[in-house]
Amino acid sequence: MASDGEDDAQSYYTDEGDDYTDEVDSNVDDDDDGESWDLEEEEVDDDDDDEEAKKKKAATAVDLTKIDRRYRNLSEEQVRARQDADTANVGELFAIPPGFAAVLLRHYKWSLVELQDRLFSDGDRAGAATGVALGGAPVSRNGLPLVCAICFDEHPAGEMRSAGCSHFYCVGCWRGYVHAAVGDGARCLSFRCPDPACSAAVVRELVDEVAGDADRARYATFLLRSYVEEGTRIKWCPGPGCTLAIEFVGGGGGEEKQDDVECKHGHGFCFRCGEEAHRPVSCETVRAWTDKNAMESETASWVLANTKHCPKCRLPIEKNRGCMHMTCRPPCLHEFCWLCLGPWSDHRSSEYYNCNVYDAAKANGEASDDKRRREQGMASLDRYMHFYERWAAHGKARQSAVDDMAGLDACAEKLSAAVAMPVTELCFLAEAYQQIAECRRLLRWTYAYGYYHLGTGLDGDEERRTMVECAQGEAERQLEKLHDCAEHEREELLAEVERTIKLNAILKDNDGEESKKKMEEKAGEMVDMVVAYRQKLAGLTGVCKIFFRNLVKTFQDGLSEVGPAVAAAAAAAVATAPAESSDDAVDPLQPLHQDDSS
Ligand SMILES: [Zn+2]
Ligand SMILES: [Zn+2]
Ligand SMILES: [Zn+2]
Ligand SMILES: [Zn+2]
Ligand SMILES: [Zn+2]
Ligand SMILES: [Zn+2]
Ligand SMILES: [Zn+2]
Repeated sequence: MASDGEDDAQSYYTDEGDDYTDEVDSNVDDDDDGESWDLEEEEVDDDDDDEEAKKKKAATAVDLTKIDRRYRNLSEEQVRARQDADTANVGELFAIPPGFAAVLLRHYKWSLVELQDRLFSDGDRAGAATGVALGGAPVSRNGLPLVCAICFDEHPAGEMRSAGCSHFYCVGCWRGYVHAAVGDGARCLSFRCPDPACSAAVVRELVDEVAGDADRARYATFLLRSYVEEGTRIKWCPGPGCTLAIEFVGGGGGEEKQDDVECKHGHGFCFRCGEEAHRPVSCETVRAWTDKNAMESETASWVLANTKHCPKCRLPIEKNRGCMHMTCRPPCLHEFCWLCLGPWSDHRSSEYYNCNVYDAAKANGEASDDKRRREQGMASLDRYMHFYERWAAHGKARQSAVDDMAGLDACAEKLSAAVAMPVTELCFLAEAYQQIAECRRLLRWTYAYGYYHLGTGLDGDEERRTMVECAQGEAERQLEKLHDCAEHEREELLAEVERTIKLNAILKDNDGEESKKKMEEKAGEMVDMVVAYRQKLAGLTGVCKIFFRNLVKTFQDGLSEVGPAVAAAAAAAVATAPAESSDDAVDPLQPLHQDDSS
């Protein structure tokens, strides 16, 4: 954010109406209480959202206009409007044409505060650095007939142009000059008078007067891109094909900044480093981890390509769904975990759950010192593979959830038709999947963190390791339950509903009193099934949300000194989350309000 004080910056936007100013105000205030760092997002109405488009959205779709209070989405037009407003403000403040204002602003990375400081304290220097004549004009015309110094033709008075200096050229020569400069890329934004000894800046007013339509448009595009790419407040969304920009309004609390943002289309990225969103771990950890993976690419691809076998019957198994709960083919039907190949029953209770923990002792085995030394190399590889496999698997599981989201509308419509329930009451499906995708991403990055910080003696002590692994394991266990319920139980429910529909179609044909009664009975059962499923899935979604909030909190708390007080607070936070048995008792229609209990 450089020196761009928000309080100062907001005064420049008064032209856009009170609305905007108020919004900035509340944004900044809200940030001070650190609230915006939990998983919760606040829905803010986007003034530019077309009402019609809103209505067209399927009722089950989760409203993606959700905007975190720390940032906001901007369309290309909105970015341009913001740039124009900044430029106009500077022009007005210093009584200079917009073209000059833009060149000056760009020189100070589009920071109004910085430019204001420099112009007031040493305007001559700012002018010299940019080639802007502060008292001058961006374009001048010849008062007398002159010979053009490029083409040597004579032109009558008023038909030639200069960049405010005394070097006049004909419009045709200027057009060629601008064309060449624009063809040279973004450097055209700082080009000067063709006279080699002259430093007068060629700015937008002159370009607009002499250039062809195509070159004018390209110049405008470079200028817009500069506003985003050379400024510090706005970044383009790196999502494929995405044209949105994100404006960062304020940082949050915490010692280490984690600046995850998400555009309206659901592309998450880190505002600081531009990588995919990686809360709760730092940009530095992400960079180290990405480099490590590139270095170990052979091992990494081996891990991913490695075929696994059912631990009971040894048949090769393939994973094609999101959750880690595997069930072998009949007649084996052994249930186990894809990651550790341990029995799934161990994954159901927190007492036995240690799928996430790397056990160095197990890897080293009981061995002599000599053998241990030889195995040291293998052990470090083994350790890396433990974390890499989990990091990669949760990334894949997230993608699987995102892919499944495409089919949710159809699923909701099918259920809605079967049990005569409005689709609006089935939005719990989309909410569950949103939660799954978010949690998979959070969980994934905790494994990159784990590789560097857990059990290495680098970050805190055994106490911290236990705390992080405990929070991670609990969150992971809840997530697997949620994902399993969203995937497999939904499939089972749909199959059951289809069976009932078919049965009812048969019963319909024989119109006896008995058949009619049976049909009603079946229809009632179907409604009960859907309602029970809704209750369970919405409940699991809410519980998962709480556990992941605790996980994020554990990470953020741990960044400061780890002491018994912090550990106790984290333990208390986990304890306040609803217990296992209450999972299904949560009111399904109020999943987002469970937060009150934490
Ligand atoms: Zn000429
Ligand atoms: Zn000149
Ligand atoms: Zn995007
Ligand atoms: Zn980052
Ligand atoms: Zn098997
Ligand atoms: Zn496992
Ligand atoms: Zn599953």
